[in-house]
Amino acid sequence: MCSVLFLQFISLRMKPASWPSNISMLAVACFYIYLTAVQKIHADEFPQNQRVPFSLPNLMSRDSLLDQAYNSGPPPLSFDYHNYDAMTAYLRAVNGVYPNLTALYSVGKSVNGKDLWVMVVSFSPYKHVLGVPNVKYVANMHGNEAVGRELMLHLIQYLVTEYPRDSYVRFLLDNTRIHIMPSMNPDGFEVAKEGVCEGGQGRYNARGYDLNRNFPDYFKQNTVRPQPETEFVKQWISKIQFVLSGNLHGGALVASYPFDNTPNSLFHSLTSTASLTPDDDVFKHLATVYASNNKRMFQGRPCKGQSGFKNGITNGAKWYPLIGGMQDYNYVSHGCMEITLEISCCKYPPASDLPRYWQENKESLLKFLGEAHRGVRGFVLDVNGEPVEGAFMKIKDRDVGFRTTRHGEFWRIILPGRHILQVRADNYEPEEIEVIIAEDRPTHVNITLGRLSRRHQNLGPPPPPSVMFPQNPDNQPASNPFGSFSNFNKFVSNVFG
Ligand SMILES: [Zn+2]
Repeated sequence: MCSVLFLQFISLRMKPASWPSNISMLAVACFYIYLTAVQKIHADEFPQNQRVPFSLPNLMSRDSLLDQAYNSGPPPLSFDYHNYDAMTAYLRAVNGVYPNLTALYSVGKSVNGKDLWVMVVSFSPYKHVLGVPNVKYVANMHGNEAVGRELMLHLIQYLVTEYPRDSYVRFLLDNTRIHIMPSMNPDGFEVAKEGVCEGGQGRYNARGYDLNRNFPDYFKQNTVRPQPETEFVKQWISKIQFVLSGNLHGGALVASYPFDNTPNSLFHSLTSTASLTPDDDVFKHLATVYASNNKRMFQGRPCKGQSGFKNGITNGAKWYPLIGGMQDYNYVSHGCMEITLEISCCKYPPASDLPRYWQENKESLLKFLGEAHRGVRGFVLDVNGEPVEGAFMKIKDRDVGFRTTRHGEFWRIILPGRHILQVRADNYEPEEIEVIIAEDRPTHVNITLGRLSRRHQNLGPPPPPSVMFPQNPDNQPASNPFGSFSNFNKFVSNVFG
């Protein structure tokens, strides 16, 4: 569009003396058009109703990327809390300076109409690249847990500025698409108060719902009325196959991993028994990667009035069970390994403490993202080399599965050793493949599925795999918003992050 304008401009044969001012006007107009367009990213993986067609900037070569990153200064980012307008302005500014390393999109709007912004930081911010894993951080889903929100802005700043200088950051951005949502509850943040370490003011969305109790639950029917913020996040994670995720909270100092809920929450809450997933070794490892790079978290010393956590990690239900949490939903319904990161004893500490929190969490945030490059990945194809979409996959003896994308891609984080990968898809012969996982790199596997013979097809599709998926994840009936909460859960939701 800008090039068309430019050609028209040249064809006008303006007087040379007027060129500089006209060129700058043209540049301002193009920049404005660009900024307006990037508010809603165009990409085939985003929700249909979010699509706004616009011209993508041409992807530059890697050398040009480096030149750009070297030569441009980042927008200023102070260690202060950024309200919605300031956060939005920063995200737009960083996207303006680094248009080839970042993309800004909104997954939808909060109850009060604030965008749920996501910034992608990657060598290919606008387009999914075949085989490249998508990872995410979501912060501030409890609006008064504010540290994570600010750390996400500093993480974005760090990634774009260190890209040319730091080989690990460059590896991450060249091989991963990192999606960062600084605030899942922008309405709650606006009514929370700086310096208030405890309590619930700002925790809930504008209708008074706790968003981390608002997801479909594997163990119990969640009867809480679905909220817009939750619905948009569910839509988001159903469109993009995220491999790894961190959900940042405050009010404690621990990395907590699934399950958050249990078949018998009363028993677990009384006995502090863990509710373990079949991938407990992986989750313990992921939580340990985060905690062990955060000195205070790893020491496991308790926050005031709480118990400590050995090595800074815990199973969610062992700490306290809850219904409708986001991490269980990510794991069971979408095959995404999500853990919950409680990064500050004080939920909304004074801004003067933010530099310390950034220093404490910087390594953890970076190292955790690298875990997306552990395990097995590849493609499931048919005999003609066409992708098999939605194939059920699982690691043998781990009955929580995952599925292939529409390009037939899959990723699964598993620890080093021998594993059996199982694949099933309607009208195809099931397959089992042994994979050997190394410590220092992902194992690539392509799996070809043969069609079932006609005789077998007449007998119907293969039996459903013994994989855990919610019975009816997206059709939860609406009813009394707090009807399914036990008193214990109500209590702990106010006390903990
Ligand atoms: Zn929280």
